[in-house]
Amino acid sequence: MSTATTEGGPLLPQERRLVTEIPGPKSRELFARRQAAVPPGVGTILPVFVERAGGGVLVDVDGNSLIDFASGIAVTSVGNAAPRVVERVREQVGRFTHTCFMVTPYESYVAVCERLNQLTPGDHEKRSILVNSGAEAVENAIKIARHATGRQAVVVFDHAYHGRTLLTMTLTAKNVPYKHRFGPFAPEVYRAPLAYPFRWPTGPERCAEEAAAQTIDMIDKQIGAENVAAVIIEPIAGEGGFIVPARGFLPRIAEFCRENGIVFIADEVQTGFARTGHMFACEDEGIVPDIITTAKAIAGGLPLAAVTGRAELMDSVHPSGLGGTYGGNPLACEAALAVFETIEQEKLVERARHIGEVMLPRLHALKEKYRIVGDVRGRGAMTAIELVVPGTKDPLPAADVAKRCHAEGLVALTAGTYGNVLRFLPPLVIPDHLLEEGLSILEKAIAEHDKTV
Ligand SMILES: *Cc1c(COP(=O)(O)O)cnc(C)c1O
Repeated sequence: MSTATTEGGPLLPQERRLVTEIPGPKSRELFARRQAAVPPGVGTILPVFVERAGGGVLVDVDGNSLIDFASGIAVTSVGNAAPRVVERVREQVGRFTHTCFMVTPYESYVAVCERLNQLTPGDHEKRSILVNSGAEAVENAIKIARHATGRQAVVVFDHAYHGRTLLTMTLTAKNVPYKHRFGPFAPEVYRAPLAYPFRWPTGPERCAEEAAAQTIDMIDKQIGAENVAAVIIEPIAGEGGFIVPARGFLPRIAEFCRENGIVFIADEVQTGFARTGHMFACEDEGIVPDIITTAKAIAGGLPLAAVTGRAELMDSVHPSGLGGTYGGNPLACEAALAVFETIEQEKLVERARHIGEVMLPRLHALKEKYRIVGDVRGRGAMTAIELVVPGTKDPLPAADVAKRCHAEGLVALTAGTYGNVLRFLPPLVIPDHLLEEGLSILEKAIAEHDKTV
């Protein structure tokens, strides 16, 4: 299986190497400057300043090489500075850097949209627009759904994360840190229960059916289906804790939307582009969304996002009703074309499945062995463990375990409404030996933390 070391690209040694404590002296110095220049509202998970990155490692300014289980939050799935991305962007930057697609268009924007229309689930006719961020994609998906249906209400779910702009922060479920004191929020947003198997009151077996019934009942009684423009859901909840909805829940909700003329929007900003062992996570249960939002892994780290949807919905908006200055920037479009090619050429969908096959058995073994591991879940290269107070389902904060991992040179992220989930998003090109080493560091961190609670 190929690794970071794709044809022709400069290689970083694929190894963990610690030469100072983490963070090292140069990172600490830069962090002091950062604190004087950048407000704490922009958080920092691991105050290590990066100098280079590629494959499964990040190399910091002190010369430490860290194992990457984050991919910059599911962005660098094809690897950092991936050779095809570098090459195409390098060529484009010398040709032109911007014209604004709405002023004078260029081919790469169209090519990205054509590929998105092919790659996303369903063989119906589709259209795409390109924007700059996941939040902007979600905003536009809602605008389009409202315009096409002439309705206003939007239904979202517990544990949802859809972004930080006014509307998307409203759609997001969690108060601290995303919403606290940032109100008032946008109107016409209604929240339904998510089929969260581990925490469903009557147990995982009845979760899908009961959560779907409660959602439909809420829509009928509180809103009226004929007033609902869109239901938006992450096929696997990302920031909310890598919650895989109980099987059957998503198809039932999609079916209800179809029966009632409601636009079903899949927010695949985190789950998209091979991450879960499918090109899109919706494919796992054969769901064909009316609109799909994508971002994160779409362009190997360049800022790009997209809304792809049924032609009749997308075409319903009046001319010039959609757009933005930078949306579909030519450098980002070239990067996206390189990403699509890399996923195909390096068989990264299969590679994501393989990563799941390596990680999930070892994570399940942790659950058998350590009392603080309450649940193991995920698909492909999007996996997580949920920590609990031993013998209960009470959330046990995951930050301490993450800190232990960081100190050993493993970049691991937390997540979850209760902050008690450790989530793993390695680049899909990470070599197996780094996956295994990262898991061993994680096990040691859990073992140590387990003794303290
Ligand atoms: C990250 C994320 C967003 C927001 O994307 P930004 O690019 O940070 O605006 C929206 N939805 C989901 C599911 C995400 O994971």
